[in-house]
Amino acid sequence: MDSQQQELVTMVRSFMNKEIKPHVHEFEEAGGYPDRLVQMGKDMGLTVMQVPERYGGLGLSTTTTAMLLEEGAKVESTYISMFNITNMGAKIVMFAGTEAQKEYYAGILAEGGMSSFCLTEPGAGSDAASVRTTAIRKGDKYIINGNKMFITNASIADVFLVVASTDLSKGYKGLATFIVERDRPGVTVGKKEDKLGMRLSITAEVAFQDVEIPVENLVGTEETGFANAMKVLELSRPLVAASSVGASQQAIDLAVKYAQERVQFGQPIWKFEAIQMMLADMQMRTSAARALVYNACALIDAGQPCSKEAAMAKCYAADAYQKNATDAVQIMGGYGVMKEYMAEKLYRDSKITQIVEGTNQIQRLVIAKQMIRENRI
Ligand SMILES: Cc1cc2nc3c(=O)[nH]c(=O)nc-3n(C[C@H](O)[C@H](O)[C@H](O)COP(=O)(O)OP(=O)(O)OC[C@H]3O[C@@H](n4cnc5c(N)ncnc54)[C@H](O)[C@@H]3O)c2cc1C
Repeated sequence: MDSQQQELVTMVRSFMNKEIKPHVHEFEEAGGYPDRLVQMGKDMGLTVMQVPERYGGLGLSTTTTAMLLEEGAKVESTYISMFNITNMGAKIVMFAGTEAQKEYYAGILAEGGMSSFCLTEPGAGSDAASVRTTAIRKGDKYIINGNKMFITNASIADVFLVVASTDLSKGYKGLATFIVERDRPGVTVGKKEDKLGMRLSITAEVAFQDVEIPVENLVGTEETGFANAMKVLELSRPLVAASSVGASQQAIDLAVKYAQERVQFGQPIWKFEAIQMMLADMQMRTSAARALVYNACALIDAGQPCSKEAAMAKCYAADAYQKNATDAVQIMGGYGVMKEYMAEKLYRDSKITQIVEGTNQIQRLVIAKQMIRENRI
């Protein structure tokens, strides 16, 4: 870790421990973070974490961003993640957009604007190529119609990066990416979904009904939307995985502390070998996941292709987190399932990480297909 990374990680640690840790249960009950805390993240520049400095961002590398996500998730995984998702739309604009679009999108985020990435639909989940939202060109405008499901940040987003079809007959080759501002007539955000875990993260539907946007809001070409979406997911998976690593570490910390405090049969339960085996496995899984995460981040920062490595990091880290959360609950016995203790929350949150950003089955398909490509005989 260099000195800039150390400084940022320390800032995130002290913010999370001071402002969020004492209130996690209270925020969960209330169903979200208070506006004041979201504003503090904006003031720290998190909306533009990965936006290049020449567009007013912090210009953080993927590795540094992963460190912040990991550190934040040692307390609560959704806080830094909400800003990471905001940066997702910006990334598409940065690698596929025009100079004017880069300045425009970065400008919204630099002023504290939040953003969502809108790919998933009622009928298009893992099969992202089957998007049915349309963007039909009429003169110098596109007219957008369709519904996007499970959109993170939807109700606090100022701008959406939307995947839509300019010609349904072309399948995935007709998909394109568009900037759609929240305040355009015809944009409606549904109610916040009531979900199992990650309850501090906003998930909602976004509907587009005859929404007019200027042709200048097309990012890339009418044919590159699917490729843009796949690329941004590849860039994002190691970051989601970094968050899982931080939360896995949180599960370890809870379990180790509890195992030292809890006395049964006249001794602390960590003295039982059955508990020691579980703790050791928890640590090995987390350390292995961490290595996969920073390997994928290093490849991204070096501009190398990394679809397999990004998928391995995401899949392994999510599975490790889910298993660690389950084991933390087990080690804590009856206390583990009580809301008062964090293990119960990690158990619920961890399940979601095996589904978002492409399910873990889809990650395994990506890994296996890339293995075949690399070793074709
Ligand atoms: C909390 C949350 C936040 C989200 N945020 C966003 C967001 O901000 N933006 C966005 O666009 N989307 C978002 N999503 C959507 C998420 O990416 C999808 O839920 C995910 O891709 C899976 O799609 P699905 O839910 O439709 O499941 P489906 O695709 O219907 O899958 C159902 C099951 O079938 C399996 N399956 C499907 N196809 C295959 C196959 N070929 N081989 C093997 N198994 C298969 C899946 O792995 C899964 O187990 C979010 C989802 C959640 C839960």
